[in-house]
Amino acid sequence: MKLLRLLLPAALLLSSCAKKPVQPQDFSSLTEEFVHSTLALSPVTATAAGYHVHRGVPLDEKLDDWSPAGVEARRAHWRSWLERLGRIDASKLGPAERADLGLMKNLCEAGLFELDTEQNWKNNPTFYVELIGNGLFTPYSLNYAPAEERWRHIIARLDAVPAFLETAKANLASSNAVWTQTAVEENEGAIGLIEKEFAPKVPPALAGRFREAASRATAAMRAFNGALGSLKDSGPDGWRLGPEKYARKFQLVFGGLATPEQLLQEAEQALADLRREMFKTASPLHGKYFPHHRDPVDLNLIVGEVLGKVAEKRPAREKYFDEAQKSLDEVREFVRNHSDKIVPLPPNDNLKIIETPPFMRGIYAVGGFNPAPPLQPELGAFYWLTPIPPDWPRERVESKLREYNHYGLRLLTIHEAIPGHWLQFEYAAQVQPAPRRVLRSLFGDGAYVEGWAVYATDLMVREGYLDRSPELELVHYKQLLRAIANTILDIRLHTKGMSEQEAMELMMKRTFQEKEEAEAKLRRARLSSCQLPTYFAGFQAWKRLRAAAEAKAQGNFQPGEFHRRALLEGALPMPVLAEVLGLEPGAASGGAPQAKP
Ligand SMILES: [Zn+2]
Repeated sequence: MKLLRLLLPAALLLSSCAKKPVQPQDFSSLTEEFVHSTLALSPVTATAAGYHVHRGVPLDEKLDDWSPAGVEARRAHWRSWLERLGRIDASKLGPAERADLGLMKNLCEAGLFELDTEQNWKNNPTFYVELIGNGLFTPYSLNYAPAEERWRHIIARLDAVPAFLETAKANLASSNAVWTQTAVEENEGAIGLIEKEFAPKVPPALAGRFREAASRATAAMRAFNGALGSLKDSGPDGWRLGPEKYARKFQLVFGGLATPEQLLQEAEQALADLRREMFKTASPLHGKYFPHHRDPVDLNLIVGEVLGKVAEKRPAREKYFDEAQKSLDEVREFVRNHSDKIVPLPPNDNLKIIETPPFMRGIYAVGGFNPAPPLQPELGAFYWLTPIPPDWPRERVESKLREYNHYGLRLLTIHEAIPGHWLQFEYAAQVQPAPRRVLRSLFGDGAYVEGWAVYATDLMVREGYLDRSPELELVHYKQLLRAIANTILDIRLHTKGMSEQEAMELMMKRTFQEKEEAEAKLRRARLSSCQLPTYFAGFQAWKRLRAAAEAKAQGNFQPGEFHRRALLEGALPMPVLAEVLGLEPGAASGGAPQAKP
């Protein structure tokens, strides 16, 4: 390592004399090499991306290598790319190439940050459990090759599980109760996937091989769960990232959109404003639903009562899934009829609703979206809906269905699918050339992606979806309030020692969340960092960008066209998107424009 550092300045010196304009085709092949070699570091990700063979090595049969040699290979990868990309003179590139260069450099920095600073691979057992789960589930659910071949990939990965978990045990230095508990549950989910879901479906010719591989793998997975109990406990606060690491990660995730302090301040102000807005929407509904209540003044009481009434309109437990399917058809139709204000529907229809895979239900407690592989978009995209577990007591089921009532479930479909994530990824799948498309889809900007989904939901409500129902508006506001609370929670939990009680109060008393939802959110906040604020930060950035484009268009603004152009760029960091769209780079950020050299 020392050697590498010694060599670096010399290389940089050399490059500064040799700078010459980079040709777009050279840059594109550089991007391709970057994307492919990065994917090869994670065969599990590569399969999901539609990248199956790297320099003659089949990736679909392998799990990621986290052995000491594998860790060293990652470090060398990120460092050498950072050095190589650093030699490129960004001022000689066009805006699209410059944007890609920034994305790649950022990805290297983020890779090194994980490896050397955050270190989930040393402290978070869910890291390994989810890799196994994804590694097995992708060849099962994604039809990238004939079934028999994919079953061979599953078997090869099952064969690799015992050694993979030995490495995991050797790497893990500590954990905390939340992460360990989640790892155990997700691991049990993955065992269930192998034994209950896979076993009956293996082609007869491979059944013997599968049984052998599966029994060794599941034995290792059970032993791993047992071994987690003896890991060093990093204490009740072990999941908090801490202010310094958080600030660095925040910079990497949000690309200078704001600092944690700025965003926290903005979120707390927005929370107060939106609560007042909700009061305005709720008051007439309160009069209609509760004509005998007198002189309503208390905001929490009025809004709470109306939300409670609205939540009574909800699907039956056994109709939850059908209702989601129905909502998908409805929103598709609405967007088709309002494409000038929203955005034209993409031509493909590759979207399926499926149950969230069991090993992912720890973090996807409600639902999620799994985009089509950017290299094989024809394989289909999945809207994950997490089913209600059959063993839940009635009270818990009721709480969930109150949250995902008639309106809430529709808003979820809008967010995850149309015109939210599915539609956005379909546009991103049209980015050319292919290396750029893969880069911006796989390693795209979180605030762009989640911000779009929130912004698109807001658009649907504003354009009058469900006949301008005030009930829908109120539930939408409640969900916006939740995105704001997510921001406050993430920043305060990871950097300011927020207690569990304070977190639950923020969610249940100030933002009207059900207990079930709040508990799941608290768990998610402890399992991740800098992801929960992407919704609000991105939403604000999209609104600002639109306002800037509208001002620039001087009365000729066409929203559908603006959205189409912004979506066709793929998931760039919001300040970069502003620049690519010909707006001021500061147009996406709040307050003072971002400094730019
Ligand atoms: Zn989302």
